Amino acid sequence: MNIQLLDPLVAQRIAAGEVIERPQSIVRELLDNALDAKASTIIVSVTDGGLEEIKIIDDGEGIAKEDLPLLCESHATSKLKELDDLYHISSMGFRGEALYSIAAVSEITVESSYKEDVPFQITIDNARKGPVLAGGPRKGTIVTVKGLFKELPARRQFLKRPSSEANLCQAVLLEKSFAFPQCNFRFISDNKMKVDLLATTKKQRVLDIVSLNQNIAPYEMQELYETCGRFNLYAVCSSPAIYRGDRSHIKIFVNNRPVEEYAFVQAVTYGYGESLHGGAYPYCYLFIDVDPTLVDFNIHPTKREVKLRNKAEIHHQIVTMIGKNIKRTIPSMIQNTEEATPYLPVVEEKRTNYVPTHKTTATGRSVYEPQEQKPIDQQWFQKAKEILQGSEFEASRASNEEDVWNEQMQNDNFTYLGQAFNLFLIAEKQDELFLVDQHAAHERILYDEVRTKQSVQKLMIPLVFEVERDVDDYLREHQDVYLNVGISLERTDDLVWQVQAIPALYKSVEQQLVSFIQHNTGNIEEVQKGLYAIVACHAAIKAGDTVDRMSAIALLKKVFALEEPICPHGRTFVVRLSKQELLKAVQRT
Ligand code: ADP
Ligand code: MG
Repeated sequence: MNIQLLDPLVAQRIAAGEVIERPQSIVRELLDNALDAKASTIIVSVTDGGLEEIKIIDDGEGIAKEDLPLLCESHATSKLKELDDLYHISSMGFRGEALYSIAAVSEITVESSYKEDVPFQITIDNARKGPVLAGGPRKGTIVTVKGLFKELPARRQFLKRPSSEANLCQAVLLEKSFAFPQCNFRFISDNKMKVDLLATTKKQRVLDIVSLNQNIAPYEMQELYETCGRFNLYAVCSSPAIYRGDRSHIKIFVNNRPVEEYAFVQAVTYGYGESLHGGAYPYCYLFIDVDPTLVDFNIHPTKREVKLRNKAEIHHQIVTMIGKNIKRTIPSMIQNTEEATPYLPVVEEKRTNYVPTHKTTATGRSVYEPQEQKPIDQQWFQKAKEILQGSEFEASRASNEEDVWNEQMQNDNFTYLGQAFNLFLIAEKQDELFLVDQHAAHERILYDEVRTKQSVQKLMIPLVFEVERDVDDYLREHQDVYLNVGISLERTDDLVWQVQAIPALYKSVEQQLVSFIQHNTGNIEEVQKGLYAIVACHAAIKAGDTVDRMSAIALLKKVFALEEPICPHGRTFVVRLSKQELLKAVQRT
């Protein structure tokens, strides 16, 4: 064996491999630097997914002329002087290896003016350092990275299509921006502005970003705080009225850094506990500020992992903070100034029919625009009635007499008053009126039923269908996922399958079921949620259907028995109107 010292450039590139994987890594590092320089506006622009060019402009304090030649030296940092500083870190960077790594795998130009002094710049082309020259921005720093991995074709092979790389860059900018709402962030891809986030509050920043993709109104998110000696918690999180089928919106930040800390994600879900049913996850952006002496980010170059000395204590506090603050109430319709309920706008804004325009206004608030209601498929109503009146309703219906129902109604302590707009079932219960959205309510009840009832029926004529290769592979390995929910499948030929038996409840939605199987490659939880939703949504009474008295009462009984009235899509479907509020409204109090 012949031991040799590596060529310095080779060594530098090996080290760079750990930090710089793709354009996204560069954007992440350069954003950190701009934030550490206390910038108040940061603009990131990528061309061709960052493969051609990445440019990041900040208005931070800048870099002094004499520091420019040091920038791209190994372990050159202004953020750490001695080992002990490692345990008091408040900056994003500290390893002094980002620019050094970037310089090894691209052509990087740094132009900067230190504290608004005369600007200078330097270019390092694949580790070949150029001279310090005059010129640059009058304030802050501009870093331009060109031709990433041009000299390393092997690395380039691992990159995705430019549009995907651009999306990854955008994602990392959004992720960083949560913890720095006081800063303006802009993202430009191929000269098109993709993201424009204005400085705002932490809560509004969360709303601005979430609303880029979906409709969440401000009152649906609440802020929680907890101060606990050596750490503080702050969360922007959803009421249990809205949730998702995955954990993608549970984000944890430790000292402003997004981290992958599964224990805390779990703590958040524990906190919500019973207020969300199985397979439902909240939106929760949790910011943990910890005394820097208890934190170690120096585990991995990308700092996605963190070691915390008081992890158990923090875990406990997260569960407690969320558990004691997340409550579910039935929204009231008339505002009571003394105890204003956060759910009030539910009625005013007709939220169920609104979708976001994918825009934020100048004030940073999301805009909602009405969406047309889908046409009603009358066929489903019959099926829904069959389902509703089948099963356990059958027993009571067999001996049915109006009195029996009335008596039962009395026992349940409510009186059914009728239907409004073919949309709401109205009931009087003690001192309150309840308006129940018939479709959402029925959907929820069916959802619960289909989760528990599994009486499987063999099909007279099996449902034959074809699948793509990936689904074929998936099904061969995961047939048990379907068997688990009472659906038995058989492969009859290459890419050809058939459904042989299904639970009775799926009978009315066979087509949707097949289409689901043809496209699904998810895990057991996703399969269950998807299937239950198909049955519940398609078989439920629609808005616009006339509901007969018996069915309405049967449905209301079940609704009142629910602990929390939320439909499988997360909407609240009951509103209440108290006698007190009504009296007040007509000035009778
Ligand atoms: P680190 O951030 O870990 O210190 P980097 O390689 O990312 O290491 O940066 C090296 C040094 O360059 C930083 O410590 C900082 O002093 C300076 N620097 C880099 N980018 C900027 C910027 N945008 N504004 C001001 N200073 C910067
Ligand atoms: Mg850095």
